[in-house]
Amino acid sequence: MKVTYPHMGHMWICIKAMLEYLDMDVVIPPPSSKKTLQLGMKHGPEFACMPLKLNLGNLMEAAEMGADTVVMAGGCGPCRFGYYAQVEHAILRDLGYQYRLVVLEPPQKHIGELIGKIRHITNNRSLYKVIKGIRLGYLKASAVDEMEKKAFYCRPRELVAGETDRLLRKALAEVIAAETPEEMPAAREKAMEIMRGVQVGSHEPVARVGLVGEIFTLLEPFANMEIERKLGALGVEVDRSIHLSQWVNDHLFLGLAKNEHSSKLAKERGLAYLGHMVGGHGLETVGSTMIYAKQDYDGVIQLLPFTCMPEIVAQSILPRVSADHNIPVMTLIVDEMSGEAGMVTRLEAFVDLLARKRDVGEVTA
Ligand code: SF4
Repeated sequence: MKVTYPHMGHMWICIKAMLEYLDMDVVIPPPSSKKTLQLGMKHGPEFACMPLKLNLGNLMEAAEMGADTVVMAGGCGPCRFGYYAQVEHAILRDLGYQYRLVVLEPPQKHIGELIGKIRHITNNRSLYKVIKGIRLGYLKASAVDEMEKKAFYCRPRELVAGETDRLLRKALAEVIAAETPEEMPAAREKAMEIMRGVQVGSHEPVARVGLVGEIFTLLEPFANMEIERKLGALGVEVDRSIHLSQWVNDHLFLGLAKNEHSSKLAKERGLAYLGHMVGGHGLETVGSTMIYAKQDYDGVIQLLPFTCMPEIVAQSILPRVSADHNIPVMTLIVDEMSGEAGMVTRLEAFVDLLARKRDVGEVTA
C-alpha cells in the first residue's frame, strides 16, 4: 500500500512522520504548482472552492508516483469540506484512478475513534506504537509552528534579504529528520538554534498585521501567493490566526492536547457578532480580528478562496468589526484567476495606509 494525501502548507511533514513511524510507504505529491492547479481546474467542478481543485491536482500527481491509497481528513458542519474526500474520490474514479480512500473523520466523542482508524490502515499496529506515531506527528506540527513564528518575526528585520527563508528551510530539515518522539526535543532545539542565526538589524517594533480566514488559504503558500513572505519584504511582521498544531488538536484530538494556540477564545469572541457557528473558521475569523485589535495590531487581512461560504459570512460582518474596534481590515479573495501583481499592489497600498494611520495617530496623540 502506498499512501498519499493532499498538501496544506507544511502539514505533509507531520503526516509523513506519523505514517512512516508506523512503517507505511508514503508518497508525497510535488509541492502545489500551476500544473497542480490546472489539473484540478480541468477535472474539478468550476464553482468548487480552490482547495478542492488543488487537492485533486495533488492526488493526480501522486498517482503518477505510484500512490494507491488516499488518507484525508473529514469534517462536518455547514461547509463543503465534509464532502471533499468523497467528491474527489468519485472524480478520480471517473477518470480511471483506482485509489483506496480512507477518511479520518473528526472523532465525535472519543479520541479512540481516530486511533482505531489509524490502526486499521496500518495493519493493526500496536496501540502503543500508534499513539507514539500520532505523538511524533503532533510534536512535528508544533515545532513547525514555532519555526514559522520565528520567521514571522525575522523577515521584516533581516539584514540579508532572503536569509530568514534560507534558514527556515534548514531548520525544517532538522525537524523532518527526527524519526522518533524521543529525538524531537533535540531536533527542535537545533532547529531553533538555526533560526537564531538570522541576522536582524534591530528589535524595534515594526508594523504588525494579523492574517485571518480560511485555513487552507492561510496555510498553503501556493494558494496565498506567499503572502507571509511578501508582507515580510514590505517590513511587516505577521501573525497567523490558525496554526497547524492547533488545527490538528481541534479537528482530530478534540482539543485534548496542550496547545498554546487554542481557538477557543477566538470562537467565543466571534459569537458576539455571528451568534452561532457558520462552518469552517468563520467564527475564528471574526473573533481573531477582535483579538488582534485588542493587541494593538496595525491591521488585519482576511484570506479566502472564491465561493468560500463561511468566510463570505465573516466578510459581511468584518466592516462592522473593523469600525467598532478601530482596526483596518482588508479582504483578499483568491482563485485560479488571481494574479500576483494585483496582490502585491493591494498589499503595498494596505501597508501604506497602515503607516499613514500610525503617523496620524502619533501626531494627534
Ligand atoms: S471553508 Fe471554504 S474553502 Fe474551505 S472547504 Fe469550506 S467552503 Fe471550501
